[in-house]
Amino acid sequence: MARILITSAIPYINGIKHLGNLVGSQLPADLYARFQRDIGNEVMFLCATDEHGTPAELAAAKAEQPVADFCAEMHAVQAKIAKGFGLSFDHFGRSSSAQNHALTQHFAGKLADAGLIREVEDRQIYSNADQRFLPDRYVEGTCPNCGFEKARGDQCEECTKQLDPTDLINPRSAISGSTDLEVRATKHLFLCQSQMKDELDAWINSKSDWPVLTTSIAKKWLHDGGGLQDRGITRDLDWGIPVKKGDGDWPGMEGKVFYVWFDAPIEYIAAAGEWAEANGKAEADWQRWWRTDKGADDVKYVQFMGKDNVPFHTLSFPSTILGTNSHNEKAGIPERWKLVDHLKSFNYLNYDGGQFSTSQGRGIFMDQALEILPADYWRWWLLSHAPESSDAEFTWENFQQSVNKDLADVLGNFVSRITKFCRSKFGEEVPSAGEYGPDEEALIAELTTRIRAYEAHMEAMEVRKSAQELRAIWVAGNEYLQATAPWSTFKTDPDKAAAQVRLGLNLIPLYAVLSAPFIPGAADKMLAAMGVEDRSWPKDVTAALSKMPAGHGFTVPDVLFAKITDEQREDWQARFAGTRD
Ligand SMILES: [Zn+2]
Repeated sequence: MARILITSAIPYINGIKHLGNLVGSQLPADLYARFQRDIGNEVMFLCATDEHGTPAELAAAKAEQPVADFCAEMHAVQAKIAKGFGLSFDHFGRSSSAQNHALTQHFAGKLADAGLIREVEDRQIYSNADQRFLPDRYVEGTCPNCGFEKARGDQCEECTKQLDPTDLINPRSAISGSTDLEVRATKHLFLCQSQMKDELDAWINSKSDWPVLTTSIAKKWLHDGGGLQDRGITRDLDWGIPVKKGDGDWPGMEGKVFYVWFDAPIEYIAAAGEWAEANGKAEADWQRWWRTDKGADDVKYVQFMGKDNVPFHTLSFPSTILGTNSHNEKAGIPERWKLVDHLKSFNYLNYDGGQFSTSQGRGIFMDQALEILPADYWRWWLLSHAPESSDAEFTWENFQQSVNKDLADVLGNFVSRITKFCRSKFGEEVPSAGEYGPDEEALIAELTTRIRAYEAHMEAMEVRKSAQELRAIWVAGNEYLQATAPWSTFKTDPDKAAAQVRLGLNLIPLYAVLSAPFIPGAADKMLAAMGVEDRSWPKDVTAALSKMPAGHGFTVPDVLFAKITDEQREDWQARFAGTRD
C-alpha cells in the first residue's frame, strides 16, 4: 500500500470561489485523492483557508466585523460549500490556526539560524489619521503607469502593473480616506531566496517527470531578469502571525506579523497537525506524513494548483523547506521536512467569452452552482473539460450538451434501460438462467483493456484523458446492450436473454466504483439501488462482474441525471450574464 499526501492550493478567505478556481486545484485534487483511496492506498488530503493579509482585513472592515470573526464565518461558509461539492478533504484547516502560528515561527527561526533572513530598513506609508502603517491594499491612489485613479498599493487593477504603495500618485488611506500620510522608516525581514538559487535549480532539474508547464514557469522565475529576488516576509499589521524566532522574541520586530505569502504554504503542514488534534491523534500520526526523519520518506507528495501559483510552490515554499533541511543537516539536527514530489498545474477556465472574475463577480460561483444542479453535473463537466494543455472555456451550450449526452444518454440511460427491462421480464432480482458466450467475453476483454488504461491516466493525473476513458467504458456497455438486444433475444431464447441481463446488471456496480472519483453522488445511488456494498476496485473484471449473483435483489433507481432543457439553459445563461451584486 502506497502513501499519498495531497494538497490543493488553499483558497483565500475573502469570498466564495468561482468554478474556475474549483477546477484549477480543489476538484482535480479530490479526483486524485478519491482514486488513490479507492485503489487501496493510504491518503492524506489536505486543504485550508488562507486567512491573513490585507484583503481579509479590509473585507472584515467592510462587513463591520472583527477580522477573526469574519474569517471564522467565511471558513464555515467555504467548508460547507466544499462538502456540497463532495470535496473529500481529510482536513479543511485554517491558516490562522495555533498549529500554523507555531510552525511558521519555527521555520522563520530555522531560516534565521541558517543565515537566510536579513533585516531591511524599508520605507512605508504611515497614516497620521489612522495611526498605523498602510501596507499593500491599505493605500489607494493614481496609477503611475496608466493614470487609473483607484489603483491599489499592491497592484493596478486597470493595467495589472505590480505596484509598491509608495509608487502611487495622490495616495490616500483605504481605511479612512485620509491623505494625511507620510513615508516612515520601518524594519522588515527578508527571506534570502537569491542565496537558494543553485539549490533550487538542482532540485528542479532532478524533477524529470514534472509537466513542462510547471518546470518552464519555475525556470523563468529562477533565471530571467535579475533572477530570484529576496522577498519581504513581514508586515506592519495586527492580523497575522506575530513575528517570533521559534518560540522566542525577535528583537526589533515587536508588533509585526509575518506576511501572508510566508505563512500560507506552511499551513499545508499545519493542516495535518489540525487534523491530528481534531481526530484525537498523536503528533507522530501527522508527522509521519511530513517529517522524512519520522516515517515520511516513503510518502509521495502531490500538489494541485493553477499556473499562477507555480512560482510560489516551486521556489518560495521550497526555499523555506530546503533552507531548513540544509541548515539542520549542517547542524546535525535530524529534523527534515517533505518536499513536493509532483506538482500538477492547470491553465485557466474562461467563462462564456470572457474571464471568471471574483472582484467583478463574473461567472458562476460555487454556491450558485449548487443552487441550480447537484454537484455531480458540475464535477463531470469541469473535470472532463479541465484546462490542462491550454485554457478552456465554459459555455452553457457545451455544458448542456455534455451533461445530456455523457451523463443522461450514456450512463443514465444504460442504468435505466437494463434495470427496467429486467423488472418487466424477470422481476427485481438477477436472473439465473443461461451462460456467458463470446459476446460477453469480448466485452470483458474490452473493459479490461479500458480499465487498465483508465487507471494509468488517473495515476498520471491526466484528468481529461481519464474522463474520456471512463466515458468509453460507459459506451461499451451501451453498445453491448444495443448489439445483443436482450429484448429481442427474449422472444426466441429467454435463457440467453437472462445471461445478457445478468451481465448488464453487473455492469452497474462496476460503473459505480469506476465513476465514483468523478461523480460520487451518482455512484452511491447506483450501488444503493443495486444493493451492493462491496466497493472494491475491479482488479479482475470477471470477478468484479459477479458482485450481483443470480437471485440478488435490486431496485430500479430514480432518474440518475435529468437532461438540461433549452429553457433551463437560456434561463441560466441570462441569470449569470451579468455580475454578482
Ligand atoms: Zn495602471
